[in-house]
Amino acid sequence: MSTDAEPVEPSGGNGTSRVRPHHLAIGLGIAFAVGTAVSGILPLILDWHSDSAIQREVFENVPGPLQLAFYTIIPVLLVWGAFAFAARMRNWERGSPAPRRTTRKNASRRLRDFRAGVYMRTLLRDSAAGLMHSMIYFGFLVLLGVTTVLEIDHQLPEDLKFLHGRTYQAYAMVGDAAGLVFLGGIGWAILRRYVQRPYRIRIKSKPEHAVILGVFGAIGLTGFGAEAFRIALRTAEGDSMDFERWSFVGYPLSTLVDGWSESTLTSVHQWWWIGHVVAFVAFLVILPITMLRHMFTSPLNMYLRDKERPKGAMKPMPNLMETELESFGASVVEDFTWKQLLDTDACTMCGRCTSVCPAHATGKSLDPREIVLKAGEVMAATGDPVVSPPIGTDAEITVSANSLFERITSEELWACTSCKACDEICPVDIEILDKILDMRRYLALMESDFPTELGNAYRGMENQGNPWGMNQGERGDWAKDLDFVDIVDPGTPLEAEYL
Ligand code: SF4
Ligand code: SF4
Repeated sequence: MSTDAEPVEPSGGNGTSRVRPHHLAIGLGIAFAVGTAVSGILPLILDWHSDSAIQREVFENVPGPLQLAFYTIIPVLLVWGAFAFAARMRNWERGSPAPRRTTRKNASRRLRDFRAGVYMRTLLRDSAAGLMHSMIYFGFLVLLGVTTVLEIDHQLPEDLKFLHGRTYQAYAMVGDAAGLVFLGGIGWAILRRYVQRPYRIRIKSKPEHAVILGVFGAIGLTGFGAEAFRIALRTAEGDSMDFERWSFVGYPLSTLVDGWSESTLTSVHQWWWIGHVVAFVAFLVILPITMLRHMFTSPLNMYLRDKERPKGAMKPMPNLMETELESFGASVVEDFTWKQLLDTDACTMCGRCTSVCPAHATGKSLDPREIVLKAGEVMAATGDPVVSPPIGTDAEITVSANSLFERITSEELWACTSCKACDEICPVDIEILDKILDMRRYLALMESDFPTELGNAYRGMENQGNPWGMNQGERGDWAKDLDFVDIVDPGTPLEAEYL
């Protein structure tokens, strides 16, 4: 995608130094980076080691310069990622206010919605896709946890270290099981996207998906490779590695290279380790700039689901006799609320909304997923700084201004039946219909751009107060021949029940 749009100043950009959400993201990234760097330096100073024979030496067979590179690159990437993520958040801050505060009254509902997100409950409504996604997500989280636990143990004084003996063996088994589940999920995802190819996936498969699956697959495979060669190397050095049988994937793999020389195993292990770190570095690079960002944005979006407006209610219109507003509805990015803009970065592109949309099913130009993504494209291309679009970069697409109608047509919007099926099925609680109705409100009120069939209905509502254009004085005519229905004179005080 290219843009020649002028950068748009985030709303409220009045030069004050108020702390904004994107500052928190930067602060968090810097804190993690400092923590990572310190965790690399401390063990060098303290030199705390465990004497247990049943344990794993951190950075075993990894030369000092490689360790230094690791503890330099990872913190730098964490800071870079935080700034990249903050740039996206600045885009959300361009939106108008949306009351989504966490209060004592809604805190438990918010936590429940958040839990539904992180436990994948909404995804499991489609059991096959949900299970596949859960295998990747939980497998990855456990692997991340396993690495973190090893790092924590690495920092502790000798008598506080806990990762040895039976605890280590259980830990190793959990790590291998998680790796297996993770790789199983990746294999399933590849099968689903490139072999089974269900419609909603097929029409939105981009090179970005292949990159993400490739990076995840590389993390899993190189992890097992590094583990197998680490065990094989120590076996070749004469250590008894029977306790590593609990690494029920890495250990059998290590026996396949029995008889290899120590020097060969040393260098092959180092290459697998480098491959593993490079795969993790690639993960950190693509995390903020691809749809993988939904690992953070989707649960956040679900946490913010609870809103004051009842389900299905449109945003209230201001009193037209009193308001000083000159425009109604949404025509530019800034007309959406910050929550509506966050939505566009939280979309997982799963296409469930597409699959249930009656307009899409009957061949109309509307695809609810595209409404979300196109709004996100305009937001991304007109941000300051410009950020990557929600998915992929298409050189054919040019966004020259922050108008939503750069990418979204009135034909798409008026094809919507307002059935809300898309909102109901969305696993991450994206409010799609709200966006459509806001843009339609703009088209109808500001541009008089609506289907001709609606002209009579609008005129009827304007002149007679009903969409059929019926005379108000004839409103009760339907009952004039019915003895058991009294038509009450609207001028007299009401003493009757009415329908
Ligand atoms: S509300 Fe509109 S976009 Fe959503 S499913 Fe119904 S017709 Fe499709
Ligand atoms: S809007 Fe929701 S249902 Fe539609 S593609 Fe995005 S995440 Fe999936």
